[in-house]
Amino acid sequence: MKGRCGAGLPAALSPSLWAACSWDRGPLMGNPIGVELFLQRARSRFGDQYDYAAMVYKSYKTPIRIRCTTHPVKEISITPEKHLQTTGGCKYCLREKRIVNLERELNRASAERPAQLRPITAQD
Ligand SMILES: [Zn+2]
Repeated sequence: MKGRCGAGLPAALSPSLWAACSWDRGPLMGNPIGVELFLQRARSRFGDQYDYAAMVYKSYKTPIRIRCTTHPVKEISITPEKHLQTTGGCKYCLREKRIVNLERELNRASAERPAQLRPITAQD
């Protein structure tokens, strides 16, 4: 820390310069996303839902292989970018999420208009 900020000036002489120096410890804008930042974002988004132990991280746009810890039946091949933008790439999780959303919609619909709720028909 010593000698890095303030160019050796006492803080009292250049308070704004000292304040500005605290900024350079923040993340750099426009930096490519490296493996550590990716894992940090992935974990804050998905927690322990995905297993990244087997992945080989090359870049944000190069597909990686991961596993869903809830549905480890098949490896998922997805780019880190897509992984963070979607539900993560597990089609089983996606399906469950759709069902949960659908049920929520139906529950809301039945609460609002119980008389008009029609029987559920298969969409596929
Ligand atoms: Zn899953």
